[in-house]
Amino acid sequence: MGILEVKGVNKRFGGLQALGDVNLSVKENSVHAIIGPNGAGKSTLLNCLVGKLIPDTGSVMFDGQSVLGRKPYEINQMGISRVFQTPEIFGDLTVMENMMIPIFAKRDGAFRMHAVENMMAEKDIVEAAEKMLEEMNMAEKRHMHSASMSRGDKRRLEIGMCLAQEPKLLLLDEPTAGMARADTNNTIDLLKQISDERDITIAIIEHDMHVVFSLANRITVLAQGTPLVEDDPENIKGN
Ligand code: ADP
Ligand code: MG
Repeated sequence: MGILEVKGVNKRFGGLQALGDVNLSVKENSVHAIIGPNGAGKSTLLNCLVGKLIPDTGSVMFDGQSVLGRKPYEINQMGISRVFQTPEIFGDLTVMENMMIPIFAKRDGAFRMHAVENMMAEKDIVEAAEKMLEEMNMAEKRHMHSASMSRGDKRRLEIGMCLAQEPKLLLLDEPTAGMARADTNNTIDLLKQISDERDITIAIIEHDMHVVFSLANRITVLAQGTPLVEDDPENIKGN
């Protein structure tokens, strides 16, 4: 049994079958890549895992519990954090202020904007955010406004914001899309380090095969909403 078990998931948008009988088993502590062409249903599948979409049929079990019908913040509290395809950080807040937000969100349940002064008054949250900035090698950038950072640093911050919630499963939807090679390599190194050093499972949607083969120890190929193969990278590479 994997930490994440998807069974018989179907999802239609009108006449379009976006997901057709998807089965997926993600092993605990693995890095599992989901690959496939544009429109294959990768993001739709991810949205079904985090409560943004409810499949028409099928089951999604995480850590022995169904995620279906739960709100995104409840799934978040179960231990799933997600990095979005476009950065979801606040450009007009500093790195440190951004880092405190997910820690509040996990504590309070739903996300609610706090005044920055109020955030700074909470010692536990400040300490947790500072610790995560250290771990992300971003401590010196804490006062920077995040809008002025490079793509790679924004991604690093965003991944750190997920990790600050201490998830069991980290989901990433094309985390290197549109990035220059140097930023992509930075992100690969960061994710490698995270999977080596932490007790965490990573599921990554990715179109860049360099990223996939640098990170994944299991790959599912999705085409037209249906998994074609699930196998080890060595076997996928050969085909
Ligand atoms: P991928 O992430 O693999 O590129 P998506 O999951 O975004 O693919 O999309 C799968 C298919 O479902 C595509 O044909 C897309 O146009 C369609 N689709 C995705 N979301 C919606 C939606 N909310 N309403 C209608 N069609 C959608
Ligand atoms: Mg997508």
